[in-house]
Amino acid sequence: MTLTQALKKHIKNTKRFGDLAAAAGVVETARRFPVHNPSTGELLAELPDMQASDVALAIDRADAARERWAGLTARERSDILWRWHQLIVDHIDDLAAILTCEMGKPLAEAKSEISHAAAYVRWYAEEANRIYGETIPAPSTDRRLLVIKQPVGVVGAITPWNFPASMVARKIAPALAAGCTIVLKPAQQTPLVAGAMFGLARMAGFPEGVLNLIYASDGDAVGKELCSNPKVRKISFTGSTEVGRLLMRQSSDQIKRISFELGGNAPFIVFDDADIDAAVDGAIQAKFRNGGQTCVSANRIYVQAGVYHLFSERFAERVRRLQVGDGFKPDNAIGPLIDSHALAKIEAHVDDAVKKGATVRCGGRRIGAKGTFFEPTVITNVVGSMRIAQEETFGPLAPIIRFEDPEQVIRKANDTIYGLAAYFYASNLKRVWRVAEALEYGMVGINTGRMSSEAAPFGGIKQSGIGREGSRHGLEDYLEMKYLCMGGL
Ligand code: NAP
Repeated sequence: MTLTQALKKHIKNTKRFGDLAAAAGVVETARRFPVHNPSTGELLAELPDMQASDVALAIDRADAARERWAGLTARERSDILWRWHQLIVDHIDDLAAILTCEMGKPLAEAKSEISHAAAYVRWYAEEANRIYGETIPAPSTDRRLLVIKQPVGVVGAITPWNFPASMVARKIAPALAAGCTIVLKPAQQTPLVAGAMFGLARMAGFPEGVLNLIYASDGDAVGKELCSNPKVRKISFTGSTEVGRLLMRQSSDQIKRISFELGGNAPFIVFDDADIDAAVDGAIQAKFRNGGQTCVSANRIYVQAGVYHLFSERFAERVRRLQVGDGFKPDNAIGPLIDSHALAKIEAHVDDAVKKGATVRCGGRRIGAKGTFFEPTVITNVVGSMRIAQEETFGPLAPIIRFEDPEQVIRKANDTIYGLAAYFYASNLKRVWRVAEALEYGMVGINTGRMSSEAAPFGGIKQSGIGREGSRHGLEDYLEMKYLCMGGL
C-alpha cells in the first residue's frame, strides 16, 4: 500500500476529507496548492488555496458567531470541548497516520503528539468552568468594586509545521474555553491533520462560525488580513522570531493583543556533579525528539571539563544507534527534515563548524541523494564563533562545547537574543537553585530533557515570545479583565 493510499484509508475512517475541510469553513477555489510527504516526495493532496478575501469572509463568520458562543454557559462550552477531546482520542490512529504522512515524524511520536493535543483540549474543558472574577474591598462604604473576565473576541491564529496537531490544540482549546471564536491558518506543509481536527470539532458540536480554517499558500497575505482586519482582536502565533516581528509590527496599528511562541536557542548544561547516564538520556530526548525540529531542542550542549570526555563518548555511542528513515517503519527514531531548505541549513552548520576546527564524532552527512534525511550528528571541539553555537539549527545536530567555570557558562548560556527553554544536569542542591534562577529563560528543565505539559505554562522571554500556552495562565491570554465600580450604595 502506498502512503497516499494509507492516508486516504485513514481519512476515510474518520469522514471524507472534503467534508471535514468544508465543515471547518474551507471554501473551494480555482487555485490549489500541493501537500507532499517529506519522506517520499509523494503528492498527498491538492488543497483549495484561499485568498485574503476568503480570510475576510471567515473573519466575518467568526465575528457573527462571537456573541452566541460567548453567551453560552461555561458548562455548555466545556461539554462541547469534552466531546471534541473524546473524538480526538477515538481517532488517534487516523490522526497520527495523517500527521506522519504530511510531516514525516515517526508514527509513535505522532501518536504521542495527538495524545498531547487531546490533553490540552481536556485541560481547557476543565478550566472553562473556573474562569473566576474578583471582589475588591472598596475605599468607601457606598461603593462595591468587582472584576469580571470576558472573552477577547475573534482570534486570528497561525501555526507551524513541526507540531501541526498540538500547536492547533494549544491555541484553540483555551480560546474556545474563554468564549472566543477562531480563524486559524496551519502551515502550508502540514494542513491535513489540522483539517481533520477541525472536522472532528464540528462533529463535537461547535456551532457554525466558531471555528474557521484557512488553507493558503500565501502566509504573508493571510497574516496581513488577520492583522489589519478590525474584527480580529487578538493574534496568536507560533513560528519563527522573524515572522513574529513582522506580525507584531502589522498588529501595532490597531494595538491588537498578541501571544507569540517564537524561536529558541536552548542551552543544555552538564555540570561535573551530574548523573552522566541521566544527562545522556536527557540530551537524547532534548536534542533528537522530532528530529531536532522543536523550538525547545537543545541547541548548545555545554559540558564541564571533568565529565566532558565521558559524556561525549556515551552520548555519541547512543546517537550512532538512532535509526533514520520513513516514520511508518517502527524501528526508525528519526524521520526526514521538513524540506530541502532545512537540509541545506544543517549542512551549512556542519561545514562551518568543521572549517573552524570542530570534530565530527558521528554522522555529519545527508542520507541518499534524494529525500531530506540527515544522519544524527555529534560534533565536539565546538567554540562560540561557530554558527551552530549561535543560530537555531532545527535538525539532528548536537554540538558539544567544553567549559571550566560554572559562572562563565551561565553568561554564555544567556548570551543570546532568545529565552525559551534551557536545561541543566547537576546534583548539588545549592548549585541547582542558583543556576535555575540565573538562567534567563521562560522554562528550565532541571535533570530532565523533557518538560512540556498541558498543566504547565509554556513560553519564552526576550525574543522567544510573549504570553504562555497551557496551564491556567494560557486561559488568561484569551480573557479581558473588566473592572466594575458600583456607586451610590
Ligand atoms: P515560520 O516560517 O515562521 O512559519 C510559521 C507559520 O507562519 C506558518 O503557518 C507560515 O505559513 C506562517 N507565515 C510565514 N510567513 C508569514 C507571514 N509573512 N505572515 C504571516 N504568517 C506567515 O516558522 P517555521 O519555519 O514554520 O517554524 C519553525 C520556527 O517556529 C522555529 O523558529 C521554531 O523555534 C518556532 N517554533 C516555536 C514554538 C514555540 O512554542 N515557541 C513552537 C514551534 C515552533 P506557511 O507555512 O504558509 O509559510
